[in-house]
Amino acid sequence: MTARIFCIANQKGGVGKTTTAVNLAAGLAAQGQRTLLVDLDPQGNATMGSGIDKRQLARSVYQVLLGASTARAAIVHSESGGYDLLPANRELAGAEVELVEFDDRERRLKQALDAVAADYDFVLIDCPPSLSLLTINGLCCAHGVIIPMQCEYFALEGLTDLVNTIKRVHANLNPRLKIIGLLRVMYDPRMTLQQQVSAQLEAHFGDKVFRTIIPRNVRLAEAPSYGVPGVAYDRSAKGAQAYLAFGAEMVERMKSL
Ligand code: ATP
Ligand code: MG
Repeated sequence: MTARIFCIANQKGGVGKTTTAVNLAAGLAAQGQRTLLVDLDPQGNATMGSGIDKRQLARSVYQVLLGASTARAAIVHSESGGYDLLPANRELAGAEVELVEFDDRERRLKQALDAVAADYDFVLIDCPPSLSLLTINGLCCAHGVIIPMQCEYFALEGLTDLVNTIKRVHANLNPRLKIIGLLRVMYDPRMTLQQQVSAQLEAHFGDKVFRTIIPRNVRLAEAPSYGVPGVAYDRSAKGAQAYLAFGAEMVERMKSL
C-alpha cells in the first residue's frame, strides 16, 4: 500500500495552510502513521515550523524539482514533529521560471515522490498562497485536497478559482484528484458571523466539510517560533487537541475513500 497524498491548498494567504500541514503531519505521526511533509512554499514556513533551519539546507525541494537531487537525498527528519520533511527555502521561488523549460513541468514533483511514496502512509504537501506551477505540481501528486478556510464573509469567493483549478488538473493531468474537504480554522465561536458562515458551509457542502473545527488558539501561533508543531508544543491546548482530532478524522475517512 502506497501513501495517501494530500495537498493543503488555498490561494488566499494566511488562512492556516502551514499550521494545518505541520500539525496534521505531527498528529498523524503521533498515531504511528509514517508521514512525509513536503514544503512547497518558498517562504519555508513549514520547514521552520518543523524545527529545520531553512537557511542551512544542503538540498531542498527546489533541487528535486529540477532533477538535481532525488527526493530521498533531500528528505530530513523533523525531531520535534516525528515526521519526515522535504524542506524548502526561497531558492524555490526560482523554480517557477526554470521549470517552464521542461515538457513534464507539471509532473516533476510527482515523478520524484513516486520513488519514496511506498515508505509512507501519508504525504502532506503545504502549498504556497497562489495557483502557480508549484501548486499545480502539488495537485498532480495528490489523491485529494484539504482546504483550510476561515469562516469569513469573503471566504467562499476565492474558493471558485481554487475549485476551477482543481477541476482543470483533474480533467487534464490527474484523474484521481478530488476535494477531500473544507477545514474550518481560526474559528471563534463567539462571533455570530463565523457561526453563520460555518452553518452555511455545512448546509452547502455537507460531507465535504470536516466535522473537526480548529479554534483560534494562541498556542498554535506561538509554536512555530520554537520550531515545534503546536500539537507537540502544548498538547493540552484547545488548538492542539483539535488538530489531533482532525488527524483521527482523516485516518477514519481514509477507510471509506
Ligand atoms: P501563507 O499563505 O502565507 O502560506 P498560511 O495559509 O500557511 O499562510 P499560516 O502560516 O498557517 O497560514 O497561518 C497564518 C498566521 O495565523 C500564522 O501566524 C499562524 O501562526 C496563525 N494561525 C494559524 N492558525 C491559527 C489558529 N488556529 N489560531 C491562532 N493562530 C493561528
Ligand atoms: Mg503557509
